[in-house]
Amino acid sequence: MKISTRINWSLGLAFILTIIFGSIWAFQFLKISTSFHVDVINKIEFVEKQLKEQNIPISLDSTKTTVENARLTMKYTMSLTTFLLVLIFIIISALSFILYRTTVSPLLFLIKQVKNVSSGEIDRCVILNRKDEIGFLSQAINKMTDQLFSSQEKIKDKQNKLEVALQQSQEQKYFLENVRHATINLLEDLNEEKTNAVRNAKKNELILRSMEDGVCVIDLTEKIQFMNTAGRKILGREKQNIEGKDLFKILNASIGEILVSRPEMPTTISIKEQKIVFGSKDLAFLNAKGERIAVDSIVSPLIVDKTIEGGILVFRDVTRAREVDRMKSEFVSVASHQLRTPLTSIRWHNEMLLAGDLGKIVPIQKNSLEKMHDSILRMAALVNSLLNVARIESGRIQVEPIPTDLSEVVKKVLENYEQPIQKKQIKVTTFFDQKLKKINVDPELINEVFSNLISNSIKYSRDNGQLAIALKEDVDNVLSQISDTGLGIPKDQQDKIFSKFFRAENVILEDTDGTGLGLYIVKAIIESSGGKIWFESQENQGTTFWFSLPKSGMIKKLGDRKLMPLETAWGHKKITKK
Ligand code: ADP
Repeated sequence: MKISTRINWSLGLAFILTIIFGSIWAFQFLKISTSFHVDVINKIEFVEKQLKEQNIPISLDSTKTTVENARLTMKYTMSLTTFLLVLIFIIISALSFILYRTTVSPLLFLIKQVKNVSSGEIDRCVILNRKDEIGFLSQAINKMTDQLFSSQEKIKDKQNKLEVALQQSQEQKYFLENVRHATINLLEDLNEEKTNAVRNAKKNELILRSMEDGVCVIDLTEKIQFMNTAGRKILGREKQNIEGKDLFKILNASIGEILVSRPEMPTTISIKEQKIVFGSKDLAFLNAKGERIAVDSIVSPLIVDKTIEGGILVFRDVTRAREVDRMKSEFVSVASHQLRTPLTSIRWHNEMLLAGDLGKIVPIQKNSLEKMHDSILRMAALVNSLLNVARIESGRIQVEPIPTDLSEVVKKVLENYEQPIQKKQIKVTTFFDQKLKKINVDPELINEVFSNLISNSIKYSRDNGQLAIALKEDVDNVLSQISDTGLGIPKDQQDKIFSKFFRAENVILEDTDGTGLGLYIVKAIIESSGGKIWFESQENQGTTFWFSLPKSGMIKKLGDRKLMPLETAWGHKKITKK
């Protein structure tokens, strides 16, 4: 039961009990005193009667008066008692009211307050300015409420912080969850990548092993990191452990009869200059048995993430192919050589007939003999070119460099072609750099180069065309430029222009003479001298050829053959303007 109800009940009960017991007590008192009074009066009247019967004259009035007085006193007492009872009732009521107002009500208020506090309404707090226990209790409750309030504020604050922290942790959890997912995905990807990489590595290894070409991976110091089965087989080192060994010592490379020094090795050059290097066409490696193996080779720098880590050498045994080539060249050389002797004789006799040394000739015979002469010249040119190709390919051409003034070579070549130049009315301009010094080249070989390029320019020019020749130099090279305003080379055929026997369709249609060997020979001479040749051309606009030669010039080479001079018959052909 609630304490307020209990107090209410207690006070009500005390009140009712006071009234009941007070009433009982007043009633009993009244009853006893009335019966006593009646009894006393009866007894007095009995005594008076007895006395009367005995005739004893005695009056008991005084006694009656006394009794009456007593009855009055009792009545008065009764009234007083009733009054007192009412008074007590009033006092109890007043006291109860005061008690209620001063103690119970504040207590109830405090109880309510505590209830409010307990239900969370901390701010509804009233301070009772009293100095008694209730005041103390109220202050204590207020203090407690204050503390509770501040604790609640702190708790709220902490709760807020906790909520923020919770939210942050939720966000972090979410983020971590995402990171976890991403990491899992990444790991899965990595795993897949790894599996793929392992599979690819195995595949690559298999490919490398099953390749017919030798493949060798070297580090920056040219130590062998890997060599496939084909490479080991070519070098006769299938069973040897060559990993970690110096490739230079393993290969013993040579060009012709000359051993290749380390700085000249394609591997060294490729790693040093970080570029692809093709091995010379006469390159050979020495196998484990000491036999020379002719090889075609290419070295690529091994660049990983823009950092050079070594090189990859790919090589192929071309001993047989080179032997077949050599035999082919030999055959062409012999055949051409054999053709030259009767050809020279025919030419000689033809020229004698034409000159009238063997008797007078009539015009119709002269015409025939002239045509024959043209054909002989064409054939001689072809035979000479074939012979030159065979000699160049066999590597037997002797190179004898001497300090040569290139401008003099150009002038001489132009002199040689004065006749066709004049015939076609070609305007020739030359520019020779004043600073140009003599360069160490074989004059015959360089003459062959200029003769081919200049004669082509004249041959493939129309009447009144232009020919410009310039010689310049840069830091390391001497640059020669031969430009014309002739037929040009069709774009779709430009990539074949240095191939053997190739002639572009436009010049064939113009019915010009040629063997298709000139540029092949020119390129071979220039590249064997460490130079480069290239061109730009536009059909019906003209062509410009450039070639560079290192200022250091050509390297002397002992050989048993020289180039045959270029002979042409095309000067007789006339290209008419379209
Ligand atoms: P050819 O004996 O036919 O001139 P080359 O090897 O000297 O043989 O030249 C190969 C081909 O290149 C020529 O047939 C021609 O089609 C083309 N060519 C070379 N030089 C020129 C040039 N200056 N103008 C146009 N075409 C050229």
